[in-house]
Amino acid sequence: MFDYDVIIIGSGPGGYVAAIKSAQLGLKTAVVEQAEVGGVCLNWGCIPTKALLKSAEIFNNIKKSKKFGIGVSNYNFDYSKVIKRSRQVANRLSKGVNFLFKKNEIDVLNGFGKIIDNNTISISSKEESIRKTAKNIVIATGAHTKEFPNMKIDNEIIIGSKNALSNEEKPDSIVIIGGGAIGVEFAHFFNSFETKVTIVEMLPNILPQEDKEISIELERNLKRRKIKLLTNTKVEKIEKVNGKGKVTYSSDGNYNEIITDKILLAVGVEANLKNIGLENIGIDVENKWIKVNENYQTNIENIFAIGDVKGAPLLAHSASAEGIIAIEYIAGKNPKPLNYENIPACTFSHPQVASVGLTEKMANKKYKNIKIGKVPFRAIGKSITIDEPEGFVKIIIDADTKKIIGAHIIGPDAAELISGLGLAKSTEITADKLAKTIFAHPTLSEGIKETAENIFGEAIHI
Ligand code: NAD
Repeated sequence: MFDYDVIIIGSGPGGYVAAIKSAQLGLKTAVVEQAEVGGVCLNWGCIPTKALLKSAEIFNNIKKSKKFGIGVSNYNFDYSKVIKRSRQVANRLSKGVNFLFKKNEIDVLNGFGKIIDNNTISISSKEESIRKTAKNIVIATGAHTKEFPNMKIDNEIIIGSKNALSNEEKPDSIVIIGGGAIGVEFAHFFNSFETKVTIVEMLPNILPQEDKEISIELERNLKRRKIKLLTNTKVEKIEKVNGKGKVTYSSDGNYNEIITDKILLAVGVEANLKNIGLENIGIDVENKWIKVNENYQTNIENIFAIGDVKGAPLLAHSASAEGIIAIEYIAGKNPKPLNYENIPACTFSHPQVASVGLTEKMANKKYKNIKIGKVPFRAIGKSITIDEPEGFVKIIIDADTKKIIGAHIIGPDAAELISGLGLAKSTEITADKLAKTIFAHPTLSEGIKETAENIFGEAIHI
């Protein structure tokens, strides 16, 4: 007899959702957590950054309020309050997850979880070390900021996102290494609060995973806001010199350097695998991520891994979806595998970026015959009313079936708008049907209809 049906190690958006689903399905469930419940997403990622970005949005709106006929004199910001509010938001939501655990009678075992054997976990905290047994174990330990031997976080000058989210002193200048989602979101935030921002990205474009046209449009916008972009540029060395950071970078064989107040490492993340006992039972790891099948089962039958720890996509909402599938499988149901081409990804920059499915490059590789529709937001009335004319909607279809195979948005509320296209794509609504759907006027979502029309040369406003 085991203490639990399921023990989940980690309470991020993968772990806590899995735990609640597990309890809902009548399984006796515990979660092991060494820090605040909610994981990185809720405490040090998605949620607190969005709170910071709301402050940035308000400040940016005040800066341009004159244009709207509103005079605001003597405006300023209190950076420490911006940070404090973001922490309060994260704490409130973490408490919310604790409430859900209680409501669902899920035990929270505070401490560091380590797998001892196929059914036993040790939980160690400062106070004690205990052992609990479970029929099934779900590893949801997440990931942490990648560091390199020549790039180590010191939390003074060289920082990771956690420090950027909690340090109440605003830097005058920052070099962000990495132009992925984290780099770009922080660039938007710091630029809004008048910090001098440089992004260094070794690939040809920022947000390199996105459709190239989207990355280029974002680059144009960031440059207009005086964010310095060094693409095709590799950081070679980081040093501390007289209380400042020195970044040495190379581009086309030329070496250069920048002196800056802070250096933010946003060069990706790596799985939290250290000391969790994988070697005790021989769990397969591939390229430093835990290897799983479509039910998120590892090579050990009763041990599962979900979320960042099992590798891409490193997104909160895919972690939650994976957690539900793993638990349904444990509960003897027959869950449908996730179709990763239907999972949206969003970057909360300004303008926002959101996508689902294939980029144009990928679509051309996979399909013989594709068609593309593209409509700029400046053709959509609502965008002009809110003074957000930047960006566009782009929809890619398989010309033979008219099915949506990729959708990309850069512009106002892109992260909200992509849900409509995700729904259309995952339910296989064809683009001609989407074009015939009536969208309310005046809304940004009319950009979706208009783009679907544009695929067939039928758009009205361009
Ligand atoms: P990332 O892997 O998306 O981007 C890191 C970037 O750093 C890459 O573009 C890479 O080319 C660049 N890079 C690496 N080494 C470099 C060097 N020496 N010099 C210059 N550039 C270098 O990682 P991230 O932005 O740190 O985010 C981590 C994960 O979290 C990602 O998978 C991301 O999708 C996810 N995330 C998602 C969101 C969101 O959905 N809004 C927000 C934050 C993070």
